[in-house]
Amino acid sequence: MNNITQKTINNTHKLLHKKGLVIAGPCSVESELQLMNTVTQLAATGKVDILRAGVWKPRTNPGGFEGLGTKSLPWLLHAKELTGLPVAVEVATSKHVEDALSFEVDVLWIGARTSVNPFSVQNIADALKGVDIPVLIKNPVNPDLKLWIGALERIEKAGIKATGLVHRGFSLYGQTELRNTPVWQIPIEMKRLFPEIPLICDPSHICGNRTSLQGISQKSIDLDYDGLMIESHCNPDEALTDKDQQLTPKQLEEMLSALERKTKSSREKFYTQSITGLRDEINDLDAELIITLARRMHVSKKIGELKKQNKVTILQQSRYNEIIEKAVKSGQEKGLSEEFIRIYMEAIHTESIRHQNLT
Ligand code: PEP
Ligand code: MN
Repeated sequence: MNNITQKTINNTHKLLHKKGLVIAGPCSVESELQLMNTVTQLAATGKVDILRAGVWKPRTNPGGFEGLGTKSLPWLLHAKELTGLPVAVEVATSKHVEDALSFEVDVLWIGARTSVNPFSVQNIADALKGVDIPVLIKNPVNPDLKLWIGALERIEKAGIKATGLVHRGFSLYGQTELRNTPVWQIPIEMKRLFPEIPLICDPSHICGNRTSLQGISQKSIDLDYDGLMIESHCNPDEALTDKDQQLTPKQLEEMLSALERKTKSSREKFYTQSITGLRDEINDLDAELIITLARRMHVSKKIGELKKQNKVTILQQSRYNEIIEKAVKSGQEKGLSEEFIRIYMEAIHTESIRHQNLT
């Protein structure tokens, strides 16, 4: 390895630990012109530390734009020379690692659809043995803390010293307000477990739109994250991937300027992280309660149908009393008052009768 390459690597290692680090660039490299246009505008903002660009794109459905692959790596090298900024690329296989290294890519990242699969992560880790390059690990697509830790450990075991964690949200079934739900308590727990590893927020893939980007970015700063990874494209409306969430370099500059980085005491940081984690837990529990209640009403409805077919009255007092007494006993064992359980069960029962009468 020549001296210049070694110096760039050392600088990038240090850069990864910069508070307020900004990694920005297009979701995908689409052409040499698009890349050069975007990166020169990004560099001109003076607010970007590392350029990002996807070359191999893991797409949910076949037939979409899957990236230009190895042929676009020389353009990235050119982008680096032109701007003086290091470049980061997503890798999903050992071949990607080899190709990226041969074109002097400075930082590698493992995407969410790859960190979910231990075989793929191991395959990348094997290709990284003996290589000194910073590697960012995105959270897996599903909200599984252990899987994220496992991916980090595989990369660390390969001898990689400079790692970073990228929080890009988690995909849940059904319509959600954001493209990927943040589940903040998972990255907060990663930060607690690995305080020395930079935690970077990727608001682009959390939001899936432009309007929520600033709010999510600010929240990550309030939670004491170390940096941001944001998608930026010279002409977002024409982007071949993730067009709805990409910002122009100018919009990115404006957004970054609007973010507030308040200096907080460690006590305040602890409070913000703890309250966010706990509120998230309450939101998840409330969502579970509603799902369980809806399931209960569905079963009640089926009972109602059965009763109707067999000409049995809807309300059977003895069964109702049995349910209430069982709930009161179980609730009391868990510290819930009898009064609360009676009111709660009464409300559920009234709604059940309504559902049974609807049949
Ligand atoms: C990306 O960064 O463009 C990407 C594919 O992200 P993720 O792995 O978070 O979906
Ligand atoms: Mn993307």
